[in-house]
Amino acid sequence: MHKLTLDDVDVRGQRVLIRVDFNVPLDTSEDGSPCVGDDTRIRAALPTIRHVLDHGGKAILVSHLGRPGGQPDPDLSLACVADHLGTLIEERVRFSSNTVGDTVEEVINGMSEGSVILLENTRFDAGEKANDEAFATALANLADVYVNDAFGAAHRAHASTAGVAEFMDVAALGRLMEDEIEALTRVRDDPAHPMVAILGGSKVSDKLGTIRALSETADHLLIGGAMSYTFLKVLGHEVGASRVEADRLDTAKDLYEQAEGTITLPTDHVVAEAPEADATASVVEGDIPAELMGLDIGPATIDAYRDRILGAATVVWNGPMGVFEVDPFADGTTAIAEAMADATDDGAFSVVGGGDSVSALTRSGCDDRISHVSTGGGALLTFLEGAPLPGVEALTDA
Ligand code: ADP
Ligand code: MG
Repeated sequence: MHKLTLDDVDVRGQRVLIRVDFNVPLDTSEDGSPCVGDDTRIRAALPTIRHVLDHGGKAILVSHLGRPGGQPDPDLSLACVADHLGTLIEERVRFSSNTVGDTVEEVINGMSEGSVILLENTRFDAGEKANDEAFATALANLADVYVNDAFGAAHRAHASTAGVAEFMDVAALGRLMEDEIEALTRVRDDPAHPMVAILGGSKVSDKLGTIRALSETADHLLIGGAMSYTFLKVLGHEVGASRVEADRLDTAKDLYEQAEGTITLPTDHVVAEAPEADATASVVEGDIPAELMGLDIGPATIDAYRDRILGAATVVWNGPMGVFEVDPFADGTTAIAEAMADATDDGAFSVVGGGDSVSALTRSGCDDRISHVSTGGGALLTFLEGAPLPGVEALTDA
């Protein structure tokens, strides 16, 4: 690693500000109070938290949650996350309803070694997203050491993900960050071939840079999801009422031509009038009739993509193949998840990332048969594109 890691830092007796990604979905418990809906991201931060506690540091955890718009919003408080974390690590987790300031500093100074506190949502302060120097300094004042373990937010140059590091003498990568960077570097810079990349999801425009980069390194780039229809339209196919990004047709055409045969598009589709559970779904090959939408890849495409994936030594996937949230349009996405797990069993190195993709993967029950399940969406795309991650760049060079 070109940045300091926890192995380079002595945390004993130190106040360690750990930027975690506790941007978790919330739910409502039986008594009506808010609770954590899915704790995957909290669990992912445990190795770093445990390291700091076990080595006698004071762990000061900081994260954003949702989009409160720079002001306090009780519905987006991290208080229930503190309770949830407490049950996971079987330690008392203090919670501070202030993110920065004198009161928090006093509480932290009174904490004993090996204890942990979670601070309130950084995005309750407008200075977070603005990467405001005053807010970054206020965060830096809380600690002796800064550790960034929030891979999911590493593509953002915000005060708690990047700005704060400027005001710290020691700023290091956490364990999750190390794991993510190691796995993704293997895919991006040193993949075993054949390498197969699968990209889907809602918009071509979100993923242009990543498509370009992967079309250079991968042997096959399999496209699914709504982004297929922008490509298919460019190639002169009728796509009916499918989602097309009209302002990206020229870019999609250039990408397809530059990729020189690497990009594979679906040849058949599950179509319906609307992405609804009670809609009549049917399969069409080739062109899509005028009033219908392409909502999933069809069975012939599933077979072709599965074969490619099973022949791969490296396989990376981001973006569902269809509207997987609605049952009749989930088969393509589930089939990709299963093919990736089977390829991994056969020795391939596999990576899956993206919020919706990982939730589809988990739903398929194949998640524990994948080499690396990334906690990043935007950060994963940025990394694979080869662009710098501000949350990593800001840290102390090794
Ligand atoms: P990820 O979160 O894994 O990066 P995206 O957010 O890019 O994935 O895309 C997921 C969304 O794409 C899902 O909500 C899914 O319903 C939608 N989607 C996939 N295929 C289609 C399609 N053919 N038409 C419309 N929406 C689609
Ligand atoms: Mg998404």
